[in-house]
Amino acid sequence: MTRIAFIGLGNMGQPMAANLLRAGHTVIGCDLVAPARAAHEQAGGTIAASAREAVVGADIVISMLPAGAEVRALYLGANGLIAALAGSDALLIDCSTIDVESARDVTAAAAAAGLAMLDAPVSGGVGGAQAGSLTFMVGGEAAAFARAQPLLAAMGRSIVHAGGPGAGQAAKICNNMLLGIAMLGVSEAFVLADRLGLDRQKLFDISSTASGQCWVLTSYCPVPGPVPASPANRDYAAGFAAALMLKDLTLAQQAAEASGAATPLGAHAARLYGAIAEAGLAGRDFSIAFPWLAGQARASLAKS
Ligand code: NAD
Repeated sequence: MTRIAFIGLGNMGQPMAANLLRAGHTVIGCDLVAPARAAHEQAGGTIAASAREAVVGADIVISMLPAGAEVRALYLGANGLIAALAGSDALLIDCSTIDVESARDVTAAAAAAGLAMLDAPVSGGVGGAQAGSLTFMVGGEAAAFARAQPLLAAMGRSIVHAGGPGAGQAAKICNNMLLGIAMLGVSEAFVLADRLGLDRQKLFDISSTASGQCWVLTSYCPVPGPVPASPANRDYAAGFAAALMLKDLTLAQQAAEASGAATPLGAHAARLYGAIAEAGLAGRDFSIAFPWLAGQARASLAKS
């Protein structure tokens, strides 16, 4: 049995912590909001008054926070968890999706204090967190990865060591940049098909076995009908919210800017998801790109 401190019991963190409890671990949770704390207690966990209190005696610390600023605030500085845990044998695992630079900075600060740390962002969404079927993309030292693997396996089905510090975050934003571009591409094909009078199901049947085939088309089709499980059939209820896609595309653009990578389609996808958010659609599934694009005049997007 492992003693785990779990910081951030939100939409993803709470069900992940519940799976650790189900696997027989002791999970001391911490969150800023009362409903998140109550849900963890209801699942059989205990709650600490602060993150510093949660990590006392912890073998493993897992964080699942909104963004890089929260992760830096949690771990760095005189009141941060790295200072609190320095000299202990605790392993730190940040599962939040954050910028590569923050992930590397925090891992370096941990290493300077003698602590092992992994960046281990996930894909699979809330459904995957509940089902324990998440994919973990892990960056960090091989020994730390080996130590974390059985624990991550209690929350996920596919656990991949992507490389050194920051490689997990790098894999996550590269994958999601590709996903955002693919969603816009598939949506555009259906917008054009509608205008040309081509039946949507016919386009699906042809492209799903032709060279336009891709995961967005065959597993997450943005038009209602061809793929019954896709959010398009539930009035675009998220799923994976457009706001989170915008966040990941923005992180990808920050990383592209910092590294000098040419990513013009990623930049354009970030602008288009920015416009989708401005249209009040941030909370809808990211496949809302299709009806949003269908409602745009060609001229209005020509120069965006
Ligand atoms: P969320 O907003 O539901 O949860 C974050 C939780 O962290 C909140 O409950 C908040 O109160 C808590 N928190 C913030 N600062 C804190 C602090 N200092 N101490 C303790 N608690 C603190 O977000 P989420 O949907 O659970 O996402 C978490 C991370 O996972 C994000 O980085 C997100 O991008 C990523 N992610 C989300 C999904 C998804 O589908 N929701 C999928 C993959 C990855």
